[in-house]
Amino acid sequence: MLSSFGGSMKKGFLMVVSGPSGVGKGTICDILLRDNEDIKYSISATSRNKRPMEEHGKNYFFISSDEFEKMIEEEKLLEYAKVHGNYYGTPKDFVLNSIDNGDVVILEIDVQGALQVKKNYPDAVLVFVLPPDFEELKRRLVERGTEDEETVNLRMNNAKKEVEFLNEYNYSIVNEYVDDSVEKMKAIIQAERLKIKK
Ligand code: 5GP
Repeated sequence: MLSSFGGSMKKGFLMVVSGPSGVGKGTICDILLRDNEDIKYSISATSRNKRPMEEHGKNYFFISSDEFEKMIEEEKLLEYAKVHGNYYGTPKDFVLNSIDNGDVVILEIDVQGALQVKKNYPDAVLVFVLPPDFEELKRRLVERGTEDEETVNLRMNNAKKEVEFLNEYNYSIVNEYVDDSVEKMKAIIQAERLKIKK
């Protein structure tokens, strides 16, 4: 007798989401997570200062540079990078356990981190979120009001450099309307879940 094809065994995978600061990738991911229990968000560790609205253990694990370097030495990070002068990295255990569990794990990380993940985990799905244009990006960054002018300019320059790596990614989404972008993310996840072999 044929075994059933309709089983509930889901395939977990890593989904890397990159894009310039202020592009809105955080908002897209928040909505995705709110609606889907089997999508998990990897909380990164960082040595940058906490912004007023952020919480330790929710947005990031805010740690010192020394503590970060200890995590590197002890191989507790799946990937890490120095972005805008601060360390950022992905704690390994949570990600690997969630994938084993059949969940999709979202890593909201920069291009350098994404390339490390792609090399070490070739099955990872890489999504790049683009702004409608760079002027709009600058407007959003300034409007957010969390960065001074120098930092906004640094982030704008990095944004232009990051876009050069677009070809390393599997998918791109132009974030014009958040709801549309969320639907596109869902479509990507569904297609990847249905893939036979990657
Ligand atoms: P922000 O300081 O605005 O929260 O993040 C700055 C940049 O660091 C963003 O491009 C973000 O994607 C990236 N980032 C956040 N967490 C990680 C991480 O764990 N690893 C890497 N490589 N980049 C990260």
